[in-house]
Amino acid sequence: MSSLLVTGIGQLVTNDATLGDGSPLGTLVDAALVVEDRRVAWVGPAASAPAADTAYDVSGRAVVPGFVDSHSHRVFAGDRSEAFAARMRGRPYSAGGIRTTVAATRAASDEQLAANVARHVGEMRRQGTTTVEIKSGYGLTVVDEARSLALARQATDETTFLGAHVVPPEYADDPAGYVDLVTGPMLEACAPHAKWVDVFCEKGAFDEDQARAVLAAGAAAGLSGRLHANQLGHGPGVQLACELGLVAVDHCTYLSDADISALASSGTVSTLLPGVEFSTRSPYPDGRRLLDAGCHVAIATDCNPGSSYTSSMPLCVALAVREMRMSPAEALWAATRGGAAALGRDDVGHLGVGAAADLAVLDAPSYVHLAYRPGVPLVREVLVGGSPA
Ligand SMILES: [Zn+2]
Repeated sequence: MSSLLVTGIGQLVTNDATLGDGSPLGTLVDAALVVEDRRVAWVGPAASAPAADTAYDVSGRAVVPGFVDSHSHRVFAGDRSEAFAARMRGRPYSAGGIRTTVAATRAASDEQLAANVARHVGEMRRQGTTTVEIKSGYGLTVVDEARSLALARQATDETTFLGAHVVPPEYADDPAGYVDLVTGPMLEACAPHAKWVDVFCEKGAFDEDQARAVLAAGAAAGLSGRLHANQLGHGPGVQLACELGLVAVDHCTYLSDADISALASSGTVSTLLPGVEFSTRSPYPDGRRLLDAGCHVAIATDCNPGSSYTSSMPLCVALAVREMRMSPAEALWAATRGGAAALGRDDVGHLGVGAAADLAVLDAPSYVHLAYRPGVPLVREVLVGGSPA
Protein backbone atom coordinates (compact mmCIF):
# COMPACT_ATOMS: atom_id res chain seq x y z
CA MET A 1 0.00 0.00 0.00
CA SER A 2 1.62 3.26 -1.11
CA SER A 3 0.96 6.67 0.40
CA LEU A 4 0.73 10.09 -1.25
CA LEU A 5 1.58 13.45 0.31
CA VAL A 6 -0.31 16.39 -1.22
CA THR A 7 1.62 19.43 -0.05
CA GLY A 8 2.18 23.11 -0.77
CA ILE A 9 -1.57 23.72 -0.34
CA GLY A 10 -2.02 27.48 0.05
CA GLN A 11 -5.57 27.07 1.33
CA LEU A 12 -7.11 23.71 2.24
CA VAL A 13 -10.88 23.47 2.75
CA THR A 14 -11.62 20.33 4.78
CA ASN A 15 -15.31 20.91 5.66
CA ASP A 16 -14.35 19.51 9.06
CA ALA A 17 -14.90 22.11 11.78
CA THR A 18 -12.52 20.31 14.13
CA LEU A 19 -9.67 21.21 11.78
CA GLY A 20 -8.03 24.52 10.87
CA ASP A 21 -9.80 27.79 11.60
CA GLY A 22 -12.77 26.23 13.39
CA SER A 23 -15.28 27.52 10.83
CA PRO A 24 -17.66 25.04 9.16
CA LEU A 25 -15.22 24.90 6.23
CA GLY A 26 -12.36 23.91 8.56
CA THR A 27 -9.87 25.89 6.47
CA LEU A 28 -6.08 25.57 6.87
CA VAL A 29 -3.33 27.63 5.24
CA ASP A 30 0.09 26.28 4.15
CA ALA A 31 -1.32 22.81 4.58
CA ALA A 32 -0.77 19.23 3.48
CA LEU A 33 -2.67 15.97 3.55
CA VAL A 34 -1.64 12.35 3.28
CA VAL A 35 -3.62 9.74 1.32
CA GLU A 36 -3.44 6.05 2.18
CA ASP A 37 -5.65 3.34 0.71
CA ARG A 38 -7.81 5.93 -1.12
CA ARG A 39 -8.62 7.79 2.13
CA VAL A 40 -7.33 10.86 3.93
CA ALA A 41 -4.93 9.56 6.59
CA TRP A 42 -3.51 12.84 7.89
CA VAL A 43 -4.26 16.60 7.59
CA GLY A 44 -2.19 19.46 9.01
CA PRO A 45 0.45 22.12 8.45
CA ALA A 46 2.77 21.32 5.54
CA ALA A 47 5.77 21.99 7.80
CA SER A 48 4.90 19.06 10.06
CA ALA A 49 3.68 16.60 7.43
CA PRO A 50 4.85 12.99 7.78
CA ALA A 51 6.85 11.34 5.02
CA ALA A 52 5.03 9.45 2.24
CA ASP A 53 6.02 7.26 -0.70
CA THR A 54 5.29 9.99 -3.24
CA ALA A 55 4.64 13.72 -3.03
CA TYR A 56 2.54 16.11 -5.11
CA ASP A 57 3.28 19.81 -4.55
CA VAL A 58 0.39 22.06 -5.65
CA SER A 59 2.53 25.22 -5.40
CA GLY A 60 0.33 27.34 -3.17
CA ARG A 61 -2.98 26.60 -4.87
CA ALA A 62 -6.26 26.06 -3.04
CA VAL A 63 -7.61 22.54 -2.54
CA VAL A 64 -11.30 21.84 -1.90
CA PRO A 65 -13.28 18.62 -1.44
CA GLY A 66 -14.56 17.25 -4.75
CA PHE A 67 -18.07 18.48 -5.55
CA VAL A 68 -20.99 16.17 -4.79
CA ASP A 69 -23.63 16.63 -7.49
CA SER A 70 -26.62 15.04 -5.80
CA HIS A 71 -29.18 15.62 -8.59
CA SER A 72 -28.68 14.94 -12.29
CA HIS A 73 -30.40 13.31 -15.26
CA ARG A 74 -27.58 12.09 -17.49
CA VAL A 75 -29.10 9.14 -19.34
CA PHE A 76 -30.72 10.66 -22.41
CA ALA A 77 -30.28 11.24 -26.12
CA GLY A 78 -30.63 14.37 -28.22
CA ASP A 79 -30.84 17.91 -26.91
CA ARG A 80 -33.40 20.70 -26.68
CA SER A 81 -31.38 23.69 -27.77
CA GLU A 82 -34.25 24.89 -29.97
CA ALA A 83 -36.60 24.97 -26.99
CA PHE A 84 -33.96 26.88 -25.02
CA ALA A 85 -33.65 29.44 -27.79
CA ALA A 86 -37.45 29.79 -27.93
CA ARG A 87 -37.57 30.28 -24.16
CA MET A 88 -34.98 33.01 -24.36
CA ARG A 89 -37.27 34.67 -26.91
CA GLY A 90 -40.07 34.61 -24.30
CA ARG A 91 -41.80 31.23 -24.37
CA PRO A 92 -42.34 29.85 -20.81
CA TYR A 93 -40.88 26.53 -19.61
CA SER A 94 -43.28 23.62 -19.10
CA ALA A 95 -42.66 20.10 -17.85
CA GLY A 96 -44.14 18.63 -21.05
CA GLY A 97 -40.89 19.17 -22.97
CA ILE A 98 -39.57 16.10 -21.19
CA ARG A 99 -41.56 14.02 -23.69
CA THR A 100 -39.31 15.23 -26.54
CA THR A 101 -36.28 13.76 -24.79
CA VAL A 102 -38.22 10.58 -23.97
CA ALA A 103 -38.80 9.97 -27.69
CA ALA A 104 -35.11 10.50 -28.52
CA THR A 105 -33.96 8.31 -25.61
CA ARG A 106 -36.24 5.42 -26.56
CA ALA A 107 -34.90 5.57 -30.11
CA ALA A 108 -31.23 5.52 -29.04
CA SER A 109 -29.11 2.37 -28.81
CA ASP A 110 -27.52 1.23 -25.56
CA GLU A 111 -24.15 2.21 -27.04
CA GLN A 112 -25.31 5.75 -27.81
CA LEU A 113 -26.73 6.20 -24.32
CA ALA A 114 -23.61 4.75 -22.68
CA ALA A 115 -21.41 7.07 -24.75
CA ASN A 116 -23.51 10.05 -23.62
CA VAL A 117 -23.22 9.06 -19.96
CA ALA A 118 -19.45 8.63 -20.29
CA ARG A 119 -19.12 12.02 -22.01
CA HIS A 120 -21.13 13.72 -19.26
CA VAL A 121 -19.20 12.05 -16.48
CA GLY A 122 -15.90 13.13 -18.06
CA GLU A 123 -17.17 16.69 -18.47
CA MET A 124 -18.27 16.77 -14.84
CA ARG A 125 -14.98 15.35 -13.56
CA ARG A 126 -12.98 18.02 -15.36
CA GLN A 127 -15.01 20.59 -13.41
CA GLY A 128 -14.26 19.04 -10.03
CA THR A 129 -17.23 16.76 -9.39
CA THR A 130 -16.17 13.47 -7.79
CA THR A 131 -19.54 12.03 -6.67
CA VAL A 132 -22.66 12.15 -8.81
CA GLU A 133 -26.24 10.97 -8.56
CA ILE A 134 -27.88 9.94 -11.84
CA LYS A 135 -31.62 9.42 -12.43
CA SER A 136 -33.58 7.50 -15.01
CA GLY A 137 -36.76 9.14 -16.26
CA TYR A 138 -36.40 9.50 -20.03
CA GLY A 139 -37.35 5.90 -20.86
CA LEU A 140 -40.75 5.57 -19.17
CA THR A 141 -41.21 1.99 -20.33
CA VAL A 142 -40.16 -1.03 -18.28
CA VAL A 143 -37.34 -1.86 -20.68
CA ASP A 144 -36.12 1.72 -21.21
CA GLU A 145 -36.13 2.65 -17.52
CA ALA A 146 -34.30 -0.55 -16.57
CA ARG A 147 -31.62 -0.08 -19.22
CA SER A 148 -31.22 3.58 -18.26
CA LEU A 149 -30.52 2.60 -14.66
CA ALA A 150 -28.21 -0.26 -15.64
CA LEU A 151 -26.18 2.26 -17.70
CA ALA A 152 -26.19 4.81 -14.86
CA ARG A 153 -24.98 2.14 -12.45
CA GLN A 154 -21.83 1.74 -14.53
CA ALA A 155 -20.96 5.36 -13.64
CA THR A 156 -22.14 5.65 -10.02
CA ASP A 157 -23.69 3.80 -7.09
CA GLU A 158 -26.02 6.77 -6.54
CA THR A 159 -28.73 5.79 -9.01
CA THR A 160 -32.35 6.91 -8.81
CA PHE A 161 -35.45 5.34 -10.36
CA LEU A 162 -37.54 8.21 -11.75
CA GLY A 163 -40.20 6.36 -13.73
CA ALA A 164 -42.56 8.97 -12.25
CA HIS A 165 -40.93 11.82 -14.18
CA VAL A 166 -43.87 12.59 -16.44
CA VAL A 167 -46.81 10.55 -17.78
CA PRO A 168 -45.71 9.31 -21.23
CA PRO A 169 -47.93 10.07 -24.24
CA GLU A 170 -49.26 6.51 -24.54
CA TYR A 171 -50.76 6.84 -21.04
CA ALA A 172 -52.06 10.41 -21.50
CA ASP A 173 -55.65 9.21 -21.00
CA ASP A 174 -54.79 6.78 -18.21
CA PRO A 175 -52.40 8.34 -15.68
CA ALA A 176 -53.62 5.91 -12.98
CA GLY A 177 -52.65 3.03 -15.26
CA TYR A 178 -49.18 4.55 -15.63
CA VAL A 179 -48.76 4.82 -11.84
CA ASP A 180 -49.72 1.14 -11.63
CA LEU A 181 -47.00 0.35 -14.16
CA VAL A 182 -44.41 2.44 -12.27
CA THR A 183 -45.25 0.86 -8.90
CA GLY A 184 -45.50 -2.64 -10.39
CA PRO A 185 -43.48 -4.16 -13.25
CA MET A 186 -41.30 -1.08 -13.85
CA LEU A 187 -40.22 -0.86 -10.22
CA GLU A 188 -39.53 -4.59 -10.16
CA ALA A 189 -37.25 -4.30 -13.21
CA CYS A 190 -35.51 -1.15 -11.95
CA ALA A 191 -35.02 -1.77 -8.23
CA PRO A 192 -31.95 -4.03 -8.69
CA HIS A 193 -30.13 -1.14 -10.41
CA ALA A 194 -31.29 1.68 -8.10
CA LYS A 195 -30.58 3.03 -4.62
CA TRP A 196 -33.26 5.74 -4.67
CA VAL A 197 -36.81 6.32 -5.91
CA ASP A 198 -37.94 9.79 -6.95
CA VAL A 199 -41.14 11.48 -8.17
CA PHE A 200 -41.68 14.76 -10.03
CA CYS A 201 -44.44 16.06 -7.71
CA GLU A 202 -45.70 19.08 -9.61
CA LYS A 203 -48.74 20.31 -11.56
CA GLY A 204 -48.51 18.66 -14.99
CA ALA A 205 -46.58 15.68 -13.59
CA PHE A 206 -47.70 13.73 -10.46
CA ASP A 207 -49.94 14.81 -7.56
CA GLU A 208 -49.50 14.11 -3.86
CA ASP A 209 -51.46 10.83 -3.79
CA GLN A 210 -49.54 9.50 -6.78
CA ALA A 211 -46.24 10.56 -5.20
CA ARG A 212 -47.16 8.77 -1.96
CA ALA A 213 -48.00 5.61 -3.90
CA VAL A 214 -44.70 5.61 -5.81
CA LEU A 215 -42.60 6.35 -2.72
CA ALA A 216 -44.38 3.65 -0.69
CA ALA A 217 -43.88 1.05 -3.43
CA GLY A 218 -40.22 2.08 -3.76
CA ALA A 219 -39.69 1.79 -0.02
CA ALA A 220 -41.23 -1.69 -0.05
CA ALA A 221 -38.70 -2.60 -2.77
CA GLY A 222 -35.81 -1.34 -0.61
CA LEU A 223 -35.33 2.07 -2.26
CA SER A 224 -34.94 5.30 -0.27
CA GLY A 225 -37.12 8.21 -1.34
CA ARG A 226 -36.39 11.69 -2.64
CA LEU A 227 -38.64 14.19 -4.41
CA HIS A 228 -38.70 16.88 -7.07
CA ALA A 229 -41.03 19.44 -5.51
CA ASN A 230 -42.15 23.08 -5.47
CA GLN A 231 -40.22 23.92 -8.66
CA LEU A 232 -42.88 25.60 -10.78
CA GLY A 233 -45.25 26.72 -8.03
CA HIS A 234 -46.42 26.07 -4.48
CA GLY A 235 -47.44 22.47 -3.83
CA PRO A 236 -47.57 19.61 -1.35
CA GLY A 237 -44.20 18.01 -2.18
CA VAL A 238 -41.94 19.69 0.37
CA GLN A 239 -44.25 18.91 3.30
CA LEU A 240 -44.71 15.36 2.04
CA ALA A 241 -40.93 14.86 1.95
CA CYS A 242 -40.61 16.19 5.50
CA GLU A 243 -43.53 14.10 6.77
CA LEU A 244 -41.97 10.94 5.33
CA GLY A 245 -38.50 11.88 6.63
CA LEU A 246 -36.90 11.72 3.18
CA VAL A 247 -33.19 12.49 2.99
CA ALA A 248 -33.70 15.28 0.44
CA VAL A 249 -36.30 17.29 -1.44
CA ASP A 250 -35.11 19.04 -4.54
CA HIS A 251 -35.86 22.40 -6.25
CA CYS A 252 -37.69 24.15 -3.34
CA THR A 253 -38.18 27.31 -5.38
CA TYR A 254 -41.69 28.16 -4.09
CA LEU A 255 -41.81 27.76 -0.30
CA SER A 256 -44.44 28.87 2.22
CA ASP A 257 -43.54 29.67 5.83
CA ALA A 258 -45.00 26.27 6.76
CA ASP A 259 -42.71 24.57 4.21
CA ILE A 260 -39.69 26.34 5.71
CA SER A 261 -40.54 25.31 9.26
CA ALA A 262 -41.18 21.73 8.14
CA LEU A 263 -37.75 21.65 6.48
CA ALA A 264 -36.04 23.18 9.52
CA SER A 265 -37.58 20.70 11.97
CA SER A 266 -37.38 17.55 9.81
CA GLY A 267 -33.72 17.75 8.82
CA THR A 268 -34.64 16.89 5.21
CA VAL A 269 -32.02 18.53 2.97
CA SER A 270 -33.29 21.20 0.54
CA THR A 271 -31.39 20.75 -2.70
CA LEU A 272 -31.33 23.96 -4.71
CA LEU A 273 -30.73 23.75 -8.46
CA PRO A 274 -29.91 27.27 -9.65
CA GLY A 275 -28.92 26.11 -13.13
CA VAL A 276 -32.65 25.56 -13.71
CA GLU A 277 -33.65 29.11 -12.86
CA PHE A 278 -30.74 30.40 -14.94
CA SER A 279 -31.72 28.28 -17.95
CA THR A 280 -35.47 28.90 -17.69
CA ARG A 281 -35.15 32.57 -16.72
CA SER A 282 -37.20 31.97 -13.59
CA PRO A 283 -37.06 33.37 -10.03
CA TYR A 284 -34.33 31.69 -7.95
CA PRO A 285 -35.01 29.80 -4.72
CA ASP A 286 -34.22 31.82 -1.61
CA GLY A 287 -31.14 30.13 -0.20
CA ARG A 288 -30.68 32.86 2.38
CA ARG A 289 -34.16 32.35 3.82
CA LEU A 290 -33.55 28.59 4.15
CA LEU A 291 -30.15 29.03 5.81
CA ASP A 292 -31.42 31.72 8.20
CA ALA A 293 -34.22 29.35 9.25
CA GLY A 294 -31.66 26.66 10.07
CA CYS A 295 -32.45 24.35 7.12
CA HIS A 296 -29.87 22.03 5.57
CA VAL A 297 -29.06 23.19 2.04
CA ALA A 298 -27.37 21.44 -0.89
CA ILE A 299 -26.61 22.73 -4.37
CA ALA A 300 -26.65 20.50 -7.46
CA THR A 301 -26.73 20.92 -11.24
CA ASP A 302 -29.96 19.07 -12.20
CA CYS A 303 -27.98 18.44 -15.41
CA ASN A 304 -30.61 17.56 -18.03
CA PRO A 305 -31.23 18.57 -21.63
CA GLY A 306 -34.41 20.56 -20.93
CA SER A 307 -34.23 22.88 -17.98
CA SER A 308 -30.53 22.93 -16.99
CA TYR A 309 -27.98 21.61 -19.44
CA THR A 310 -24.96 22.43 -17.31
CA SER A 311 -22.64 19.95 -15.60
CA SER A 312 -20.75 22.74 -13.85
CA MET A 313 -20.85 22.79 -10.07
CA PRO A 314 -18.61 25.91 -10.06
CA LEU A 315 -21.30 27.73 -12.09
CA CYS A 316 -23.93 26.62 -9.57
CA VAL A 317 -21.75 27.89 -6.70
CA ALA A 318 -21.42 31.25 -8.45
CA LEU A 319 -25.19 31.45 -9.04
CA ALA A 320 -25.90 30.55 -5.41
CA VAL A 321 -23.70 33.39 -4.27
CA ARG A 322 -24.87 35.97 -6.79
CA GLU A 323 -28.56 35.08 -7.06
CA MET A 324 -29.48 33.20 -3.86
CA ARG A 325 -27.67 35.43 -1.36
CA MET A 326 -25.43 32.67 -0.03
CA SER A 327 -21.87 33.47 1.05
CA PRO A 328 -19.04 31.84 -0.93
CA ALA A 329 -18.39 29.63 2.11
CA GLU A 330 -22.04 28.57 2.40
CA ALA A 331 -22.24 27.84 -1.32
CA LEU A 332 -19.07 25.72 -1.34
CA TRP A 333 -20.30 23.78 1.69
CA ALA A 334 -23.69 23.21 0.03
CA ALA A 335 -21.98 21.95 -3.15
CA THR A 336 -19.78 19.49 -1.26
CA ARG A 337 -20.80 18.39 2.23
CA GLY A 338 -24.38 19.51 1.67
CA GLY A 339 -24.58 17.34 -1.44
CA ALA A 340 -23.13 14.42 0.51
CA ALA A 341 -25.83 14.90 3.18
CA ALA A 342 -28.46 14.92 0.43
CA LEU A 343 -27.21 11.44 -0.53
CA GLY A 344 -27.01 10.26 3.08
CA ARG A 345 -23.21 10.03 2.80
CA ASP A 346 -20.58 11.06 5.34
CA ASP A 347 -17.57 9.52 3.58
CA VAL A 348 -17.47 12.16 0.81
CA GLY A 349 -17.84 15.95 0.62
CA HIS A 350 -15.14 16.60 3.21
CA LEU A 351 -11.43 15.98 3.71
CA GLY A 352 -11.31 15.03 7.37
CA VAL A 353 -9.27 11.97 8.39
CA GLY A 354 -11.00 8.86 7.09
CA ALA A 355 -12.86 10.59 4.25
CA ALA A 356 -12.46 9.52 0.64
CA ALA A 357 -9.47 11.37 -0.85
CA ASP A 358 -11.65 13.05 -3.48
CA LEU A 359 -10.48 16.60 -4.10
CA ALA A 360 -10.07 19.39 -6.60
CA VAL A 361 -6.94 21.53 -6.96
CA LEU A 362 -7.95 25.05 -8.00
CA ASP A 363 -5.86 27.32 -10.15
CA ALA A 364 -6.54 29.99 -7.55
CA PRO A 365 -5.31 30.93 -4.08
CA SER A 366 -8.76 30.64 -2.47
CA TYR A 367 -12.10 28.86 -2.88
CA VAL A 368 -13.74 32.30 -3.04
CA HIS A 369 -12.51 32.49 -6.64
CA LEU A 370 -15.13 29.86 -7.60
CA ALA A 371 -17.80 32.57 -7.27
CA TYR A 372 -15.54 35.57 -7.85
CA ARG A 373 -14.35 34.31 -11.29
CA PRO A 374 -17.51 32.78 -12.81
CA GLY A 375 -17.11 30.87 -16.04
CA VAL A 376 -13.34 30.51 -15.65
CA PRO A 377 -12.05 26.89 -15.71
CA LEU A 378 -10.34 27.03 -12.31
CA VAL A 379 -10.23 23.28 -11.65
CA ARG A 380 -6.67 22.29 -12.49
CA GLU A 381 -6.56 18.71 -11.25
CA VAL A 382 -9.02 16.26 -9.74
CA LEU A 383 -8.10 13.32 -7.51
CA VAL A 384 -10.56 10.49 -6.79
CA GLY A 385 -9.41 8.22 -4.00
CA GLY A 386 -6.06 9.99 -4.25
CA SER A 387 -5.57 9.09 -7.94
CA PRO A 388 -5.81 11.42 -10.93
CA ALA A 389 -9.36 11.25 -12.34
ZN1 LIG B 1 -34.37 16.98 -11.76
